[in-house]
Amino acid sequence: MKKCIINGVVITMDDSRNIIEDGFVIIDGNEISEIGNMKDLKVSGDMDVIDARGGIVMPGFVNCHTHISMSVFRGLGEDMPDRLRRYMFPMEDELLDEEMVGIGARLSLIELIQGGVTTFCDMYYFEDEVAKAVRDFGMRAVLGETILSKPSPDSSEAYGGIEYAKRFISKWKGDSLITPAFAPHAPYTCDDQHLMEIKKLADELDVPITMHLSEMLHEMEEFDSKYGKTPIKHLEDIGFLSERLIAAHLVYVDDEDIEVLRRNGVGAAHNVVANAKSGRKVSPAPAMHKAGMNVGLGTDGPMSGNHQDILSLLGYYTKIQKQAALDNRICPAVEAVELGTIGGARVLGMADEIGSIEIGKKADIIIIDTSAPNIQPIYDYYSAIVYAAHPHNVVMTMVNGSVLMSDRKVLVQDEDRLIDEVREVSKRISRFARELDQRARL
Ligand SMILES: [Zn+2]
Repeated sequence: MKKCIINGVVITMDDSRNIIEDGFVIIDGNEISEIGNMKDLKVSGDMDVIDARGGIVMPGFVNCHTHISMSVFRGLGEDMPDRLRRYMFPMEDELLDEEMVGIGARLSLIELIQGGVTTFCDMYYFEDEVAKAVRDFGMRAVLGETILSKPSPDSSEAYGGIEYAKRFISKWKGDSLITPAFAPHAPYTCDDQHLMEIKKLADELDVPITMHLSEMLHEMEEFDSKYGKTPIKHLEDIGFLSERLIAAHLVYVDDEDIEVLRRNGVGAAHNVVANAKSGRKVSPAPAMHKAGMNVGLGTDGPMSGNHQDILSLLGYYTKIQKQAALDNRICPAVEAVELGTIGGARVLGMADEIGSIEIGKKADIIIIDTSAPNIQPIYDYYSAIVYAAHPHNVVMTMVNGSVLMSDRKVLVQDEDRLIDEVREVSKRISRFARELDQRARL
């Protein structure tokens, strides 16, 4: 059965940034088959009609970097220095199991869908549990199993994630919605030899790699003292960089690093709010974008970014960059929408399939209700999306032609039951968190 979204302002995000003020979009199966003006629409009896009621119809958002299962830890260890090593790693080593990863993933999936995210790139442990949740919800995702130079929650051996990832990739490769990947944690938590092993495997298996890169000051100091160069230049020298790499953060990068990343086709996931919250320098994402790199937005995990939606990041992206540059002309609203949609799709290597509303592309579409008081009146659609809209203004989310949320209701999960499970698991977590708090303060 075909679906037809009617009475919408269609923000296509195609190359000419076409907007159809009184438009429709027809979806045949999982693909967009027709786009046009309402006066030219012929509705046939076999069509399921979705009335946008004058709202904005646009491509779903792409979250290029997160760890969705960490939603069960959201709000712990806030404002603590070196939180990754002092808090997150010990917490995960002690507590994390398959059940917790599954519950956290489901909780975040509801939030993602409610915020209009239709594709995301994840990196975590027990990634198979994330994949099962993603499959149940019908979301689209790149899912990477984390690899570390120490034992991890799902492996008793250092680099055990490589074997896990190989099994995980062979299970999910070829899935229509899930792209399995390797996720070495960072260049300071994986050595060169293992990074190159991962690169070789990724080439053979034809899958993406996602990794944190040039994120931490201690990482920059370590590479400077060991090699006298930045991690990015070092990784180019060993042959690790390629178009497969989705690099998260890229905070401490200089102009030469940007040129290295560009010539190797590395995609950038800019985590504007998570970086701000952790008190890091503002990433030169606009310079990467200007240099011709693929740049998208990411939230980072729910401990770092707390929210998982991309819509509320759009305004932060442009405002924080304007403030850092002391120049309000940079990063116009349309650029923020680009990074949140087609830009993110390019970062994940999926721009042929998603990221814009164009005939032949997969139907990953959202509707934003523009009758809400926080949005009216509208003189400029990009301004309305970036500076005024909130995630709760998203009223319909469609992935691959299937409606996952209608009238704000996520159709694929019993939300009340899930919240009960989250509360149950949080009791277990808070017991250990109290211990850890005391230890961290010693
Ligand atoms: Zn991260």
